[in-house]
Amino acid sequence: MKPSLKTVPYRELTLWLEQQGQPRFRANQIHDWLFAKRAMAFADMNNLPTTLREALEANFTAFSLKPIRKQVDGDHTVKWLSELGDGKTIETVLIRAPERDTVCISSQVGCPVCCVFCATGKMGFQRNLKSAEILDQVILASNEIGHLVSNVVVMGMGEPLLNFDNVAAALVMLSSKDGLGLGVRHVTVSTSGIPEGIRRLADTGYPWNLAVSLHAATEDQRSKLIPPRHRAPLEDILAAMEHHSEVTHRMPTLEIVLVNGVNDSPEDAARLANIAHRVHAKVNLIPCNNDSGPYQAPPPEKCNMFLRHLISRKIQATLRLRKGKGIDAACGQLHSKSTQPPDTEELP
Ligand code: SAH
Ligand code: SF4
Repeated sequence: MKPSLKTVPYRELTLWLEQQGQPRFRANQIHDWLFAKRAMAFADMNNLPTTLREALEANFTAFSLKPIRKQVDGDHTVKWLSELGDGKTIETVLIRAPERDTVCISSQVGCPVCCVFCATGKMGFQRNLKSAEILDQVILASNEIGHLVSNVVVMGMGEPLLNFDNVAAALVMLSSKDGLGLGVRHVTVSTSGIPEGIRRLADTGYPWNLAVSLHAATEDQRSKLIPPRHRAPLEDILAAMEHHSEVTHRMPTLEIVLVNGVNDSPEDAARLANIAHRVHAKVNLIPCNNDSGPYQAPPPEKCNMFLRHLISRKIQATLRLRKGKGIDAACGQLHSKSTQPPDTEELP
């Protein structure tokens, strides 16, 4: 497979250009197309000579995704299924709101953590995404709306901190001035709680936001929801979160999927409030989406009661609305589905 030009170091690109008999300033032009102009093909780079565009095409890729299906939900959610160079597929979701456009990007094909209620987890693990495959999802969504998205959440398929190097490299390209230039405060990495990864993320020097999908506030409940292989002790996760806050000065988020009869009691809310106090986190409650399986969302009044309990303990908490449910784009519903719902547009 040809390498992505985005990940070829600038110096190597200038050397390659020299070998092609091209002036060095072409490297700047090419980078401008790849990042500032978000070009998706060498053919679009119309200030480059045709011979150079052809040589680039023969040696590198400008864009690593082939969107093969696009679905739009009534509430302005767009979901793409994209094919990668090796034929594997991933999903990317754009959530449009009047004040901001957020793209939810995938970091792996499938996921090795395999949380019991998660559609991605059920796919098992296929492979890590490369940094360009991660970044290009932001470009895909931005080009849909004609400007850079305002927020990026690494909350799609996969566990980003089990693909640390590629995710970090993609986010550096996303946040740096000579990359896409999206401010670190507008980027959130969501993890199921990989302590070493949380610490490494803090130590990158980029204070991206951290969200931890704790799932539940006791070891016993967590053991029912997360298989042992990638389930770290709660204490290690909380200590890593404290390190992240100390280094980045960012307020983390705890994400809790509320599952009926599993983690939704008033005692669960009280335990969660204690944890949120300790790590100075806000809480985002997500009623479980997988309504058809054995894991169900609690009734709305129970979710609201849980929310009120947290708020009464002075925790900054929200109950997430279900965006994109009609097209299986809501949390935990991303998978490489082969069936086609009727609201689907096949892309050429
Ligand atoms: N692996 C990372 C990021 C991807 S999962 C993580 O776990 O944080 C993104 C979010 O979807 C997580 O907060 C997860 O808890 C949530 N999620 C997974 N399955 C879900 C379901 N069935 N209903 C609601 N949210 C779900
Ligand atoms: Fe993986 Fe996150 Fe799904 Fe768990 S919730 S299986 S970590 S994608």
